[in-house]
Amino acid sequence: MTEQNDAVWTDQSGQRWPKRPAHETGVFGRCPRCNEGHIFTGFLTLRDHCEVCGLDYSFADPADGPAVFVQLFACVPGVIFILMLEIMARPPLWVHLAVGVPVLILTTILPMRPIKGWLVAAQFTTRAQEAGTSALWAKLHDK
Ligand SMILES: [Zn+2]
Repeated sequence: MTEQNDAVWTDQSGQRWPKRPAHETGVFGRCPRCNEGHIFTGFLTLRDHCEVCGLDYSFADPADGPAVFVQLFACVPGVIFILMLEIMARPPLWVHLAVGVPVLILTTILPMRPIKGWLVAAQFTTRAQEAGTSALWAKLHDK
């Protein structure tokens, strides 16, 4: 019984959905609870709630997390590639514009949406919340 409860999400009405890891739902912009609804209304704008299961997305606040991941894991290799191109080939300026601009666009803008979706889904699956001072104070003084 406990294993089954750990394997499903149950909402207030009692409807149940199988739990899925964040990388299977959020990366594709799908609702972390039902895997059918959508997280985004635009490219990076979050919906208020899931249009299928009604999950309230007010918990979702990845803040600058997507930008940090993009900078660390995508943008830095892109810039290194552009610098290595200059060091190894010393191409004319137009080659840098023709190669460097698309590389920077591909390594900065395109990964933002899947990473943001993954972080939102991870917030839901791990029940992560920003630590408020009242909760922190209660935890610190609850001995
Ligand atoms: Zn949903």
